[in-house]
Amino acid sequence: MTATVIDGKAFAANVRGQVAEHVTRLKEEHGITPGLAVVLVGEDPASQVYVRNKGKQTVEVGMNSIEHKLDASTTQDELLAVIESLNADPSVHGILCQLPVPDHIDGDTIINAIDPAKDVDGFHISNVGLLGTGQKAMVPCTPLGCLMMLREHHGSLSGLNAVVIGRSNIVGKPMANLLLGDSCTVTIAHSRTADLPGVVKQADIVVAAVGRPQMVPGDWIKPGATVIDVGINRIEKPEGGTRLVGDVDYDSCADVAGAITPVPGGVGPMTIACLLANTVTACCRANGLAEPVGLTA
Ligand code: NDP
Repeated sequence: MTATVIDGKAFAANVRGQVAEHVTRLKEEHGITPGLAVVLVGEDPASQVYVRNKGKQTVEVGMNSIEHKLDASTTQDELLAVIESLNADPSVHGILCQLPVPDHIDGDTIINAIDPAKDVDGFHISNVGLLGTGQKAMVPCTPLGCLMMLREHHGSLSGLNAVVIGRSNIVGKPMANLLLGDSCTVTIAHSRTADLPGVVKQADIVVAAVGRPQMVPGDWIKPGATVIDVGINRIEKPEGGTRLVGDVDYDSCADVAGAITPVPGGVGPMTIACLLANTVTACCRANGLAEPVGLTA
């Protein structure tokens, strides 16, 4: 293996440390405690784990954590009423509704009901538009985490060829916009891309956000490229049980790449850290205060 391993766990701990410092300053100098509200509808086990982790880390950095756990039978109107009350609450600076919501609720309607200034997931159509036009937005957490790690590793990203594999609204497209904002030459690849190996081979930066275990082999990677693996896939182990793997074949890619994020311990830990960063940013913007440097796009 030749690649430098980008340690997302350590990076996320550093981001959380910076967030905690800002929270302390907001409390001591302005008497403001940032508050993050998380709304969960239903009993989805994975969502419950995410929400618990978010709540725990929110409290650990000194912010208020507000949780609304609603029954799976909650109607769309009832959920909208909860969102409206959080929009109107000045002690709440960030709101997220854990996705997916049950089938009888339209996720887009809920996301677009959140006050864009409190939309710390960055999924509201206004924030999507602001990011797409290079204006100050709330930025989706996972791509923001990837961008932070890339900036730390490369310094300037200007002029680098970046290939993002995946065109989802939550990862692929915002990632491409962020890289464009940092003056990369960006290609977005997807399931219909012709000659994906050839496209990936051109990249100085590869971001894989596909959801297919170990899909990208080392021989697609340009020697020295930086590989950011967003994928989280659970596969069977030959000896029984399961393990987490990314969208890239770690061992073969690490032999060729200049730097690579592992799974687990790469992009994953950055997502909640960036959610906390976004909440501090939203709190500063709401109160007309200078926002933290280095914690936004
Ligand atoms: P989606 O399923 O929404 O999007 C997957 C994308 O991959 C689509 O654009 C699809 O193309 C593309 N794709 C599928 N198959 C191929 C293929 N054979 N070749 C090229 N492209 C392909 O996934 P998400 O963006 O939501 O998530 C991607 C991965 O990232 C998942 O493993 C997910 O678990 C993980 N993830 C991790 C997070 C973290 O915190 N680390 C957060 C969010 C997601 P097309 O549009 O043409 O169908």
